[in-house]
Amino acid sequence: MARPPKPWLKGQVDDLVSLPQLDDTILLQELHERYKLKKIYTYVGDILVAVNPFEQLPIYGKEIQAKYYDSVKSSNPPHIFAIADQAYFTMVRNSRNQCAVISGESGAGKTESAKLLMRHIIHLCHSGTEGQDIEQRVIEVNPLLEAFGNAATRMNHNSSRFGKYTEVNFDNNGHVVGAKISQYLLEKSRVVKQNTGENNFHVLYYVFSSPKAQALGLTSPRDFPYVSTTPGLPNAARMYSSVVQALDTVGFSPSEQDNIHAILAAVLHIGNLAYSEARPDQAQVSSSPQLVAKISELLGLNPEELKEALTAKTTYTRGETIRRTYSCELALVCRDAFAKALYGRLFEWIVSHINTLLAPGMSHSTKKNLLEIGILDIFGFEHFDRNGFEQLCINIANEQLQNFFNEVRNHPVVVAVCEITHITTATHAHTHTHTHTHTHTHTHTQIPGLSPPLLTPAVEKYKQTFASHKDFAPARTSEPCFTIHHYAGDVTYHTEGFLDRNKDELPADVVGLCFSSNVPLIHQMFEANQDGQPGKGGSAGTMNTARKRAPTVGHQFTSSLRELVAKMQRCMAHFVRCIKPNYEQEPNNYVDEFVDRQLRYTGMLETTRIRREGFSFRPSFADFMERFGILAYGPSAQVAPSAETCRTVLSKSNVGGWLVGKTKVFLKYWQVEQLDKSIKLYH
Ligand code: ADP
Ligand code: MG
Repeated sequence: MARPPKPWLKGQVDDLVSLPQLDDTILLQELHERYKLKKIYTYVGDILVAVNPFEQLPIYGKEIQAKYYDSVKSSNPPHIFAIADQAYFTMVRNSRNQCAVISGESGAGKTESAKLLMRHIIHLCHSGTEGQDIEQRVIEVNPLLEAFGNAATRMNHNSSRFGKYTEVNFDNNGHVVGAKISQYLLEKSRVVKQNTGENNFHVLYYVFSSPKAQALGLTSPRDFPYVSTTPGLPNAARMYSSVVQALDTVGFSPSEQDNIHAILAAVLHIGNLAYSEARPDQAQVSSSPQLVAKISELLGLNPEELKEALTAKTTYTRGETIRRTYSCELALVCRDAFAKALYGRLFEWIVSHINTLLAPGMSHSTKKNLLEIGILDIFGFEHFDRNGFEQLCINIANEQLQNFFNEVRNHPVVVAVCEITHITTATHAHTHTHTHTHTHTHTHTQIPGLSPPLLTPAVEKYKQTFASHKDFAPARTSEPCFTIHHYAGDVTYHTEGFLDRNKDELPADVVGLCFSSNVPLIHQMFEANQDGQPGKGGSAGTMNTARKRAPTVGHQFTSSLRELVAKMQRCMAHFVRCIKPNYEQEPNNYVDEFVDRQLRYTGMLETTRIRREGFSFRPSFADFMERFGILAYGPSAQVAPSAETCRTVLSKSNVGGWLVGKTKVFLKYWQVEQLDKSIKLYH
């Protein structure tokens, strides 16, 4: 009979992997015990688990920051600062890029963790000499992006409605020299419609506190349908000032700030445009001429042309121009698409302008020598009663990151997803899809049985295209949905509106109109899509949409995601798993079932096991010797790096289980930690 494991003090073990026994139940209980003791951080191997306290804990002050300065990880309690410490000093010492992946569901604390991580990194490199200015500017990017990209939802009163990857650049001395933001999938639909109990993007309320509000025609949120869900945010005035301050600090000029104000006001006014039907299927703008004039003034457009573009679509066929008028219903769709496009492109422009302003200066333009730490703060897995295109993209992203996490390379899911977005784009809006897939392993998903849609005669020709496709099979039901077995569970997606969301098209008439704007920024925002990159003028159509197809949202997203993963694979990665202890966003409330579900679908234990067994650190002989050679040969010896000398160091160090290959040393993350510890003790 197996002997029972030795007992341990509940909630007192900082790294749960060091327990004599660890399973789902113990993991859950330990996290709960520690949470009761206000120990919200716990290591599970090299993963930091952070349970959201939903209250301010006194663990982020200057004295605590000082404790996590070039420290041995196990000598301090687990902390987000320890991750920053480890990332920063590993980067500086080994000239190796670092990244931190912060995951968890909405409201779990990802964005707060990302900010704390950033704050501590800045603290660590803060030299008091040069670069203070750039550091402050990098920090101020956060409140700026939050104002434009965050909103109050039922899950989180300050929920990020976009994913972001922040890269901070350092010179060889470890000083900040610049930063770059990549943003993913802003939830633009929120601009025109919010679920019950949710709000629009913060800044659309803040802007009513502007001293220019009157000139912009902004009376009260009550008068504007896009934001009338609430009479205003309680702290709007204060938040408005902080946004302006952030714009100033980051470096937006007064005229750029005026442009931003004008576009925000225009978006709000557009929501007031009303239509009546002059004749059946012939909508006309029925709002006051003053409203149309205001919007035109704000955007630098001709009012007559604006009305035209919002009520009809022009097509060119064989030299002939045909103007098709909209029904009222279609005119409203067009109006909302216009508002979404304006807001979405404004957001993209802000991000790309931040990147211009914070780009490493000329003296650092030899980017080769720059080091970086990237921080990924991206939406967690989503599973609602009804899941649409956004959920598919978000969940695919999580699937990808999970794979990255588990070091599964070149996973078929990328391929499959690209196929999905191609298929949904190619087929007609009325097709019905039902896809059955099978999970082959529990750590990642495969989508082998990707069935193509049931095709309507409209699109009979596609049927021929897909008949030869290896994944072709008749749809099994007429329900417009399909299911994917994600690592986190099955999710059924409803394809209604899928294609439109994916194409995200704005009528060419509206694009052309905005392109003709006499406001340079508006003109620029609607310039032809050069290469489909986000930040270069958006994702929708171009002047010549008819000739050149814009990349779909799904396609663009998967390619930027692939780029991101490729970039992160070249970094040393750090993982933070955020956990939400209760649904009510309140302190001292830990709901076991709720936490258990999060731990299970992220496969915490499985992940830990894989990471423990995998050789996550693979330095060349030279890199290895440069870092650890001192352990066997002392600081001054000149030793040529070879398999032999590396072996000598490893044999002396008392860590077992390593491998020495033909050109590299293969180490597990905890062996690296042990070696690092020996180095610190040596000094
Ligand atoms: P996510 O980005 O995962 O959706 P947030 O980071 O926005 O979640 O966190 C949601 C809320 O939880 C925050 O607004 C804050 O009130 C609270 N919170 C998160 N992390 C902490 C923390 N470390 N300490 C105190 N409160 C926190
Ligand atoms: Mg967030």
